[in-house]
Amino acid sequence: MEIGDSDTDKYPHRIGNISRRIKLHDMRTVTLIIVHCSAVKPDQQSSAAQIDTWHRQRGFQLGIGYHYVIRRDGTREMGRPEYMVGAHCQGHNKYSIGVCYEGGLDNDGQPADTRTEAQRQALRQLLLELKQRYPRALIVGHHDLNPMKACPCFDAAEYRSL
Ligand SMILES: [Zn+2]
Repeated sequence: MEIGDSDTDKYPHRIGNISRRIKLHDMRTVTLIIVHCSAVKPDQQSSAAQIDTWHRQRGFQLGIGYHYVIRRDGTREMGRPEYMVGAHCQGHNKYSIGVCYEGGLDNDGQPADTRTEAQRQALRQLLLELKQRYPRALIVGHHDLNPMKACPCFDAAEYRSL
């Protein structure tokens, strides 16, 4: 959408938000791309919409804390827009993009690399695109920043050379 006088007339209440968002976008430096799992068992679903609901229930006023969700079939779903600070890794949100794949637990609820072949490919493609947008960002797993977490239940070093 173009921002001009006519828009100011039509949407006076929206212009403030839009210009603030554009400023945030310009200001945001991304140095980390953090990979997560949604910590669900193989028979549980976790779409971006479902995660949005869960995160709101946990008190995230802006909803889903991740920027992207990769479903088991490889579908990419949008979370927060990239220009917005996420809520997915304490102490590192301001400078990062959060990417979450659906899964991460086995049938017993234990941490496991449950990525399907479609997810591996979709995740790789998304990380490649993010790396092109943020060439200086490091790709890491949540566990690399917080060893108390098993998430994302695989070693994200496999994407480090993208
Ligand atoms: Zn995580």
